Amino acid sequence: MSEPTDSRSSDDESDGEEGKRAPDPERVTSEVRLSGYAVASGTALGPAWYHPPISVDIDTTPLPSDAASDEEARFMQAVDRALSELKTVVDLAQNRLGRESASIFEAQAMILRDETLLQAVRDRIHMHDEHASAAVHAVLKRHRTRLEESDSQYLQERAADLRDTEHRLLRALQHREMPDTKRRHGIVVADTLSAADIIRFSQGNVLGCVSATGGPTSHAALIARALELPTVMGATNLPDHVNDRDWLLLDGSTGEVVVRPSTETRVAFQDHEASQADNRAARSAGPLYTADGTRIQMLANVEFADQYRVLAAQGAEGIGLLRTEMLFMMQSRKHLNEEVQYEQYAAAMDVLADDQPLTIRLLDIGGDKTEPATGPEMGSFLGLRGIRVLLGRPDLVEPQLRAIVRMSEQRAVRMLLPMVTTQAEVVAIHDRIDEVVDAVGLAERPANLKIGIMVEVPAVALQAEQFAEDVDFFALGTNDLTQYTLAAARNNAEVAHYADALHPAVLALMRQTVRAAQHADIPVSICGEVASDPVAVPVLLGLGIRTLSMAPPFIDRIRSVVAQIDCAEAETLAKEACAARDAKSVRTLCTEWQHAQGITQ
Ligand code: PEP
Ligand code: MG
Repeated sequence: MSEPTDSRSSDDESDGEEGKRAPDPERVTSEVRLSGYAVASGTALGPAWYHPPISVDIDTTPLPSDAASDEEARFMQAVDRALSELKTVVDLAQNRLGRESASIFEAQAMILRDETLLQAVRDRIHMHDEHASAAVHAVLKRHRTRLEESDSQYLQERAADLRDTEHRLLRALQHREMPDTKRRHGIVVADTLSAADIIRFSQGNVLGCVSATGGPTSHAALIARALELPTVMGATNLPDHVNDRDWLLLDGSTGEVVVRPSTETRVAFQDHEASQADNRAARSAGPLYTADGTRIQMLANVEFADQYRVLAAQGAEGIGLLRTEMLFMMQSRKHLNEEVQYEQYAAAMDVLADDQPLTIRLLDIGGDKTEPATGPEMGSFLGLRGIRVLLGRPDLVEPQLRAIVRMSEQRAVRMLLPMVTTQAEVVAIHDRIDEVVDAVGLAERPANLKIGIMVEVPAVALQAEQFAEDVDFFALGTNDLTQYTLAAARNNAEVAHYADALHPAVLALMRQTVRAAQHADIPVSICGEVASDPVAVPVLLGLGIRTLSMAPPFIDRIRSVVAQIDCAEAETLAKEACAARDAKSVRTLCTEWQHAQGITQ
């Protein structure tokens, strides 16, 4: 792992082509086999994409007299910048992997907000006349060394969080942005990889990762596994053998890395891949049924167009939730016009069959998905969020409505409204849609356009029968439904133990929603994280839910659980769960039930 005082000069990276490392003629050009820790299973074959460490300078010269206050201010601004960079990573992690994985980065945010630590840096600036970079390095290094010197591998690897935080702060002090990783394609090769690096790479066309340091219990490893990104870490001789753009073959299940694989090695690999693909296809092919023959639809929650192409291979039968917030966060407003949105949504048409659902959620801005440069009000979960914002912001919603309405001329589209609380909001958006239909020159609203709501506010679940009159489908958003029912903010680690979607109160709201949907004969799906929780799935089916939507990496595992469930038995379980005292009792009940039913995960 490289120190923040990395020896590469900033010029090394500003050559206009991030990642480029000139081939070293001294190095061997034949096949080389290396080994490291098998961190995340799966294989990858592709060109190496060298990811250089970003150099940061530590200024050890004494601070001029009278400069301490300005230096302190500069430090505090850097803390804010680092926190906002981290927020983007947290959002990405949360949307791709769920809250549990995102909490890894929240831990880093807590370090950056730790008043004792901030004060220690400020003290060094004022009392030791140190530049902020030197003070940050000294303070964080002290804490980190303690962890690194521990005998426990676990604690040693937690030191990586501190190192990452320190690096982020030092970069922020020097206004050095993370390089754009979206346009590259290949296998990432790095000395060290942080969890945040892996999350960022997953936005691009990354086939796998290999690093010279790190191990299987690091946060980076957890994230790689959750993203199903084949990864090998601790391949110690890596830097000596790999040139940028050399071909690599890696096996994340064995820890083997082949540099510049020979033709024979590649042919053997491709044969192996083909047989693996056949096995996967056999597993994920065709409709999914429970053990008693009940049809269950498996849909995907997606954020990026680059996720579409692998949906079928992952066993998804359509898109149950296309979150559009990432589009807005990644693109500047100026560039996110109707056409760009249309293209992004239309890309899904190329991969989905006509009868596979495509569910596009209107921008769920606000709450923890705050748009840059908005007032403090936007950060509140109980304030302006989702449809509440959209109804007052035609500049945001109209291009999106136009893009979706135009798409619905070509194929069936389900438009999903976020954070609905009142029927008046639904009526208002129906009016807007009609205006847009008119404005794009259509005589009437396309029959292919269905309008549904997220059921994520308890009031909506309680009034589900009335809402069912005005909409075509329901999507249970249990992430929010849980936080609003149990009064536990979803991004607050201190109350995370309250926020379990299996709490009987949340189950009761789900049951009420499902019954209303059945009564009105409209579809109901669930797209909160609980849909990908193997312990919870039998209860969800027992409540009558027949469509599950989840992050694609979870589909395979949940398919296997679903196939073992008997719906009549699950219904009995759900009744008992609804009558239980608390979430913990429900979890115990579910685990015992699965054991008794012989269900394996
Ligand atoms: C939910 O609230 O359950 C949901 C799926 O939406 P999000 O997580 O994007 O708020
Ligand atoms: Mg939600």
